[in-house]
Amino acid sequence: MTEQNAVTQTTDLGSESNSSTPVQKVDLLGMDRQAMEAFFKSIGEKPFRAGQVMKWIHQFGVSDFDEMTNLSKALRENLKSVATVRTPKIVAEQLSEDGTIKWLLEVDNKNSIETVFIPEKNRGTLCISSQVGCALDCSFCSTGKQGFNRNLENWEIIAQMWVANKALGCLPKEERRITNVVFMGMGEPLLNVKHTFPAARILMDDFAYGLSKRRVTISTAGVVPAIDMIKAEVDVSLAISLHAPNNELRNILVPINEKYPLELLMPSLHRFVEGGHSKKHVTVEYVMIDHINDRIEHAHQLVELLGDLPCKVNLIPFNPFPNTDYKRSSNNAIHRFRDVLENGGLNVTVRKTRGDDIDAACGQLAGKVKDRTKRTLHHVEMNLKQKTN
Ligand code: SAH
Repeated sequence: MTEQNAVTQTTDLGSESNSSTPVQKVDLLGMDRQAMEAFFKSIGEKPFRAGQVMKWIHQFGVSDFDEMTNLSKALRENLKSVATVRTPKIVAEQLSEDGTIKWLLEVDNKNSIETVFIPEKNRGTLCISSQVGCALDCSFCSTGKQGFNRNLENWEIIAQMWVANKALGCLPKEERRITNVVFMGMGEPLLNVKHTFPAARILMDDFAYGLSKRRVTISTAGVVPAIDMIKAEVDVSLAISLHAPNNELRNILVPINEKYPLELLMPSLHRFVEGGHSKKHVTVEYVMIDHINDRIEHAHQLVELLGDLPCKVNLIPFNPFPNTDYKRSSNNAIHRFRDVLENGGLNVTVRKTRGDDIDAACGQLAGKVKDRTKRTLHHVEMNLKQKTN
């Protein structure tokens, strides 16, 4: 292990940890502007206090009301008695040789989640989690293999940005290192819209992180009814984890396809783009797995399937994890696949794998999940049965 990727144990950036938070107090970290304004009205204050407090929390990383110096002493005392700013405990922080940083955050006694910061030349992307584990069981994803425990709440989702922004210095907006946020960590964000949508609104709020809607991306395995809610509720950007050009293969790789097959999914992507600005598009993610979905005929089928959908295709070399039989496609196969897509008129990029020395690459986020689905055990039992028969 290099000095750089050493693990820092138990750093708590916040002044109040969730374990010491009395349950009856209102938590302000996860409130979007509307909720925060309603809260201030409810305690007899003017709604503009919402913006002031959001700035302190999100832009300056302050969780202690005493530090919010433009509020009167009386208001600060009142806030201390009725409200709190819950912050998660940072269990570990790991730095990759390529500059990628991964944080492991404890969200309750039994579970932890992972968040990853990926610096690039002209931008910095934070990859955040939306659930503890994942219920979808995509066959190539290590998060899915751990099973599902629960949805994250607003504050737990936004806390990932809060922690990362604070660790990176809480800089003024023009200098901030996190320029983009993607919901591509653990979990399926569109099976938790009740909490991911308010968190996305906080990311885009000028009193908080002020990111434009082009720089906040929800990635989904294809929860069609929720795709149809995005435009009206948050209007963020959309990435679809497609991974297969036909239902037969997609049912195996992304089993939610059985519920929302391509004939339902594709029209919902067209509806998402419809009526938007000229550059509005969908990002299509396609993980390249050796001899599974990387054949030339799959590329031709994909060109056909995407048709005139305004989109950018992102080919993701499969990232292996323990106990998987899948392998990464060869570079040759990836380049051949890309060429067919490009000749078919598609805009294609091949994603560089980042942070794999700290297990921070796509699909490798594991955290610590107390599986309530008992899927892991089920898998083990199935494997044992097969081996003993
Ligand atoms: N549930 C959401 C978000 C989480 S996955 C979704 O399905 O989009 C984020 C991205 O990582 C998805 O495109 C996912 O398919 C991809 N991914 C998962 N496991 C991977 C692996 N082992 N290698 C490469 N990409 C993977």
